[in-house]
Amino acid sequence: MVHFVGAGPGAPDLITMRGADLLRRADCIIYAGSLVNPALLALARDGCTIYNSAEMTLEQVLEVLQEQESQNHETVRLHTGDASIYGAIREQMDALDRMKIPYDDTPGVSSFCGAAAALNAEYTLPGVSQTVIITRLAGRTPVPPRESLAELAKHGASMVVFLSAGLLPEVQKELLRGAYTENTPAALVYKATWPEEKVVRCTVGTLAQSGALHGIRKTALVLVGDFLQATAYDRSKLYDPDFTTEYRKGNQA
Ligand code: SAH
Repeated sequence: MVHFVGAGPGAPDLITMRGADLLRRADCIIYAGSLVNPALLALARDGCTIYNSAEMTLEQVLEVLQEQESQNHETVRLHTGDASIYGAIREQMDALDRMKIPYDDTPGVSSFCGAAAALNAEYTLPGVSQTVIITRLAGRTPVPPRESLAELAKHGASMVVFLSAGLLPEVQKELLRGAYTENTPAALVYKATWPEEKVVRCTVGTLAQSGALHGIRKTALVLVGDFLQATAYDRSKLYDPDFTTEYRKGNQA
């Protein structure tokens, strides 16, 4: 059987207990070597076969999965963060369906959660934004036109831009075509939760300049929105003494 596992954003202790258990039991691990922390491979048992998918094509990955399955082996396909975000798992799952190889998927902590934690930030601050847009700039991989960064920026919601740290001048320009202004708070988080993590707070107007100043070109997220700095926000209803919930009677009830 094949187990897709989210490795988490970097720090090896941020994998789930289920994911760690699957790694310990695996006969074979195929890990996304460009971003998965190799420290996680220390969980592998003696004799486990390990492949780095950064050096492989989809066809080569599928070949290994098929070969391992023919020996009744358990294979972990280890993806960075959570595999549902830019993980390219659908194409692997569809191929496994065609080959009649069973699989399951264990979620992981996505890097956008790791980045928020590094900033002690809450994306969904009441009265500020109740929406998180996860997106990327069109680069060598296209983005549907209706999802262009400028189009999504019209909402002024909390936003996380993946896969675009090498294109910060363009990210900045596109964001400014939407509802954000030069003064809208922004942040760059490089290698969130890794020992070499860098957190740079800036504004949309200084995004490109800040990236250049700190040499951030890859493995980083751009976070944008008033959630990063809002001093005025509404307190939560859930913990408001006057508000009645299923579990607690409010003062005014
Ligand atoms: N599935 C992953 C994302 C893979 S796409 C997840 O859920 O996080 C790869 C992009 O993710 C990188 O270009 C970068 O933008 C972002 N990324 C992955 N790990 C990161 C980390 N630890 N810190 C900051 N950005 C990260």
